[in-house]
Amino acid sequence: MRNAKFFVLFLAITAFFLGMTVQTAITAEERNDVLYYCDCGPDCHCNSVSTKPGNCKCNKPMKWGHVIKVEGDEAILCTCAEGCKCAIDANDPTKCGCGNKVTRVSLKGTGVYFCNCGGSCQCNTVSDQPGKCKCGMDLKKVD
Ligand SMILES: [Zn+2]
Ligand SMILES: [Zn+2]
Ligand SMILES: [Zn+2]
Repeated sequence: MRNAKFFVLFLAITAFFLGMTVQTAITAEERNDVLYYCDCGPDCHCNSVSTKPGNCKCNKPMKWGHVIKVEGDEAILCTCAEGCKCAIDANDPTKCGCGNKVTRVSLKGTGVYFCNCGGSCQCNTVSDQPGKCKCGMDLKKVD
């Protein structure tokens, strides 16, 4: 009988961890505000931006970031560590909620579809293909 009890406990623990793994996978897939951008420094103007990880035009790995605002065809990105979910600082738009400096990238010519409802918005939706934003507007691309 002792073994049966342990077996039930084992099953419960396995189910718990399986559940966590599935949830993590779903959460990761649901994000649509993530952009990878050139991280070569202020002197680089290669302006590589992509919704998927990869190298920039200078052949260095792009940095993970997430959109916290779109103004015109420029995206303002949080520069915190991968996985951050902060918002723009309401009192200081040069900073994100974590207090780090934001960076600005042009989405022009990158092939990235994005929302800019009203010319400036915080929907923060980006995609590698056309579609609708959560606000109901069509995502747009600037060539
Ligand atoms: Zn670069
Ligand atoms: Zn952030
Ligand atoms: Zn939108």
